[in-house]
Amino acid sequence: MPEKVVIIGSGPAGWTAAIYAARANLQPLVFEGAVTPENQIKGTTPLGQLNLTTEVENFPTWPFADTAALAAFSKSALPEERFGNLTHLYEGKTAHHGKRAATGPEMMEWMRQQAINFGTRVVTDDIVRVELNRHPFVLHSLEGKSVETTSLIVATGARANYLGLPSEDKYKNRGVSACAVCDGALPRFRNKPLVVIGGGDSAVEEATYLTKYASEVYLVHRRHELRASKIMQKRALTHPKITMKWNAALDEVLGTDKDGVTGARLRSTLNKATEDLASSGVFLAIGHTPNTDFLQGQVKVDDKGYIVWTVPNRTNTSVTGVFAAGDVADSYYRQAVTAAGSGCMAALDAERWLAHEGLV
Ligand code: NAP
Repeated sequence: MPEKVVIIGSGPAGWTAAIYAARANLQPLVFEGAVTPENQIKGTTPLGQLNLTTEVENFPTWPFADTAALAAFSKSALPEERFGNLTHLYEGKTAHHGKRAATGPEMMEWMRQQAINFGTRVVTDDIVRVELNRHPFVLHSLEGKSVETTSLIVATGARANYLGLPSEDKYKNRGVSACAVCDGALPRFRNKPLVVIGGGDSAVEEATYLTKYASEVYLVHRRHELRASKIMQKRALTHPKITMKWNAALDEVLGTDKDGVTGARLRSTLNKATEDLASSGVFLAIGHTPNTDFLQGQVKVDDKGYIVWTVPNRTNTSVTGVFAAGDVADSYYRQAVTAAGSGCMAALDAERWLAHEGLV
């Protein structure tokens, strides 16, 4: 018998879709992704981008709490082996605010468990190839398994682009970030100079957002003209706390084992000149890449590779019976809470489609 619904992806969209589908008695099967060195380098390991961040202060329901209380909650909510994935967050750590917000890794373990509690089955494997031109659809995994499914929810997210510098990798989560909205308010960035790399709307938005916390923000762009929309450009160019560094690229993130990021070495894109800036953070805003390669062109995507919703305000894709949720179909909002919302939509859309077609 084919599955009723398979969900590919294990970020907020995937688990929310699973919670809704499980509670609708659809017994969803989630492919949460594989733990491979390739996925670790790309940032596409199970539990998604949120699992790569620290505190998440903008997901409703998690006001600051004592670290010990969060530890007790995790211990009570999770099986022992999954709690073990989080213990490093509780051991010998002083909370940033005395109390602290829930972190991305905690939230993702909790979401995963919530889906399992209602009967979701989870496979720790990647789907690497799909056959969507036949029905039931056929999915092929990295480990060589094949699964047939009547409906499919794609929630594979997007990955932030990095430049690929070893120093960038070394200081990820210790001052290097690709999400100012997620990380900007952390104490290490307060009242210190910060560096943002990029020249699009995201870079300007991140730089402007960071001015709330930073003493000053350097916006580093490889050309002498921003790609960002005119109104956003004006915001950056007139902001008293933003200094433009034109025709410059990030050569190296400077830092120490003790303090994490302490600065950025810039390299001119016009000549060989370099410049060191003191900074406690380096934010990359050079675009995202949606994780859609495995679809091999079988679902309609936009010019940047994001899946297109083909019915306004619904999660339908160009293939009947295939739905998309979260960042894989959203280059615009890209928030945990919007991803979770669209995961709920995709499960409801799949459930209604299955019922309408008499497939359940
Ligand atoms: P984007 O528009 O693709 O801009 C990426 C920027 O990164 C460009 O300035 C690009 O430089 C630079 N870049 C790319 N690769 C680089 C590299 N290897 N080294 C150095 N710089 C590099 O991406 P985005 O800013 O994330 O925006 C994505 C979409 O979301 C856009 O459609 C945008 O309008 C939208 N968005 C809208 C808002 C808003 O309206 N509030 C906010 C955020 C995003 P070049 O310019 O030289 O190519």
